[in-house]
Amino acid sequence: QRSSTSKLHIAVCAFPFGTHAPPLLNLTRRLATATPHASFSFFTTAKSNASLFTSTADTPDNFKAYDVGDGLPVGYQPSGNPMEEIELFLHATPGNFKDSFEVAVANTGNITCVLSDAFLYFAAEMTEELGIPWVPFWTAGTASISIHFHTDLIRDTIGVLPNGFAGREDEQLGFIPGMESVRLQDLPEGVIFGPLESTFSRMLHQMGKMLPRAAALIINSFEELDPTIVKDLKSKLKKLLLVGPFALVTPPPSVPDETGCLSWLDGKKHCSVVYISFGTVTAPQATELAAVAEGLEASNAPYLWSLREQLHKQLPRGFVERTKERGVIVQWVPQTRILRHPAVAVFVTHCGWNSVSESIISGTPMICRPFFGDQRLNGRLVTDVWRIGIRVEGDMFTKDGLVKSLDLILSMNEGTEIRENGRRLKEMAEKAVGDEGRSTENFKAVLQSVV
Ligand code: UDP
Repeated sequence: QRSSTSKLHIAVCAFPFGTHAPPLLNLTRRLATATPHASFSFFTTAKSNASLFTSTADTPDNFKAYDVGDGLPVGYQPSGNPMEEIELFLHATPGNFKDSFEVAVANTGNITCVLSDAFLYFAAEMTEELGIPWVPFWTAGTASISIHFHTDLIRDTIGVLPNGFAGREDEQLGFIPGMESVRLQDLPEGVIFGPLESTFSRMLHQMGKMLPRAAALIINSFEELDPTIVKDLKSKLKKLLLVGPFALVTPPPSVPDETGCLSWLDGKKHCSVVYISFGTVTAPQATELAAVAEGLEASNAPYLWSLREQLHKQLPRGFVERTKERGVIVQWVPQTRILRHPAVAVFVTHCGWNSVSESIISGTPMICRPFFGDQRLNGRLVTDVWRIGIRVEGDMFTKDGLVKSLDLILSMNEGTEIRENGRRLKEMAEKAVGDEGRSTENFKAVLQSVV
């Protein structure tokens, strides 16, 4: 640990897409509040800063946000391919961060530590040149970072698979500790199938290789959830610090119930409502969206569906009208509060890490329909390891498959295995962030790693 008299200046580098920057900002706020003698400079694109700081409230005095270049050419028109902006941004790194660092250094003094989204692995080399620690933060689950860490081992052991998996989709990853239930088909694209050479896949691969150079790797999860994976990674990295689940440590601020969905839930019976959301990025095909609507209609259960506006037009004609007595569709809900509402019985989810983790802390069973990235892996853990949810029949939404899945979960009572497992995991998560919990202890160790 450095002398407390040297001026501490932590540069925090965010990945400005999807649900990456908010949890890093959340962590930074906690760190800045706990160490008023240190300065924190937060770097992300102007667009990302604008969406993170909608009000000036809640920003500690020792915290300052800076814009970094987004890499978009002048006059850029989005092509409709969401990966394009990400790739342009990645091509602009690390120069865009270095440029903004200069401004922060001029304002606040030399940088003494870089805390970055793990995706931004170039920080490993940058910090080595400066002789300061690099502390990456992984916003998703422990299993997915283990996969990226072990990519070379997986490629050497399995090889590269063609589309269709050559009949090997159900082979299990028993050679990686804690991954015995994970099948080859569950792996994120770019590990042994899919676009191995895309900018994004190469970034994930490089990131995995850089992790042993990090002073500490921080994860938004808790140790008790994946003890075998945690033990394995602890033996392979300098330091592994699980400090979540964030949604439990620092619940999002209570915003007004603008859409009225919380008061709508107040009027519903205990454990009766189906909540559906596919997160901020995933857009199911029109046929699957229609199948969800038909399944909801056929099941007769009350439902609350968070669905982005551009997808509303894909719903079957007359569906909203026919089900308006028992269903609500809105563009955005306060999900953590929805999941904790006693009326909510089940979460139909795409298995994004935040959604899974918010479901865990509320003990809500899941019906899983993962799409891409780490979602299949998360879904496998939910259904086959933690056993707190089920996969939708046939792995894709069909009317009958959804009705069957809903019937199964909605007919469960408190004593059934899935609900019981959910209750146990919820308690474990609460314990982890309690005064004596591992996540609380690990947060103290994060403080020592960065300041
Ligand atoms: N979310 C929300 N309201 C909504 C839909 C989503 O608050 O109506 C939040 C949800 O609570 C979660 C995040 O958006 O924190 C989605 O993150 P996740 O990792 O599940 O999926 P992604 O959007 O990254 O695919």
